[in-house]
Amino acid sequence: MKPWSSRREKMTAKLGQLEAEPIYMKIGAFLAEHGLWPSPGNYTLAYQVFADPASSVAEAVKTITADGIRLSQRDADRIIAEHGMPAATAPATAGTDPVMIGEATRQMEEFAAIIETSRAATQSYGRDLAAGAAELEEALGSASSLIEITRSMIARTKSAEQQLTAVRNEADGLKAKLAEAGQEARRDPLTGLPNRRAFEEHYAELQREGAIVSVAICDVDHFKRINDQYGHGVGDRMLRAVAELLDANCNGHFVARLGGEEFVVLFRGLTAAQSAEILDDARERLAAKHFKLRESDAPLGKVTFSAGIACGTSRAEEVPLARADALLYEAKNGGRNEVRVERI
Ligand code: GH3
Ligand code: MG
Ligand code: MG
Repeated sequence: MKPWSSRREKMTAKLGQLEAEPIYMKIGAFLAEHGLWPSPGNYTLAYQVFADPASSVAEAVKTITADGIRLSQRDADRIIAEHGMPAATAPATAGTDPVMIGEATRQMEEFAAIIETSRAATQSYGRDLAAGAAELEEALGSASSLIEITRSMIARTKSAEQQLTAVRNEADGLKAKLAEAGQEARRDPLTGLPNRRAFEEHYAELQREGAIVSVAICDVDHFKRINDQYGHGVGDRMLRAVAELLDANCNGHFVARLGGEEFVVLFRGLTAAQSAEILDDARERLAAKHFKLRESDAPLGKVTFSAGIACGTSRAEEVPLARADALLYEAKNGGRNEVRVERI
């Protein structure tokens, strides 16, 4: 029989676990629900939400997630930064990380190449064996045991070749699936537009090319009201409509969803002023639309966006998002439904 003190310690530890478990489960469920990677920063944020529901961090999260709205990584990063918490970035090992998918694709290609080499070698070996068997038969007659052995080797080689063909087909299928996963990791599921990661990759590519590029951030005005008044479903439909309109009216320039109700346009080869002409036209088109509720045909009112456009150069190290963001907020403060341009 163990001394009471040791049993008591064990029981206390067990009770501690029982108490800790619900919060741990809640944090896990919260991160999964919002599609957030369990990085230390995100975990700390979620911990704060459940450990101290009255804290300003928890309040900030509640404000965004009221009505069942998803907390994006951008929202989380902002709250984390505003409250001086550790930065929350997904490690390169995240499940849908394109770098990892790229690495897996490379390995898959190597694997497929090895299989193909083996299959081709087996096939040619099979042909040599068959030719050798024909010569042997001529020389020794078909009853020779050497002929028997050779025939059985031909059969085995044939079967190995068939197996390798099946494995090669499987590898081809996997390669196609990996390519698809790579595409998905760069696409925003709600609007079908490229996502933030795709945008960053594309910007880096333009930088490598040394192309002139302007970056516009567009943010839907008073979007929260649409959610509040008509619900999240209508809000989602509206985001799709804005995405479609931007994509259709930016003359083929690269449009992506940054997150939430924010979109980004990369105007390749254009100055900020030239880009503003195109974007302002898109802004007017959106403002002129008469959206209606699908269910009742009731008018939804005017939907507009504000935007800030900054110039990026091939020499710039960073995406000029902060400058475009600052201009966007000028447009918001100026009354919204406006495009502000960087003057240099
Ligand atoms: P402002 O004119 O200053 O930009 O006001 P706003 O209401 O557009 O800005 P705010 O940042 O206060 O609200 C943005 C809202 O967008 C809050 C958030 O819940 C909502 N939202 C973010 N992502 C989604 C989404 O995927 N679907 C829907 N329906 N709403 C979203
Ligand atoms: Mg916004
Ligand atoms: Mg907005």
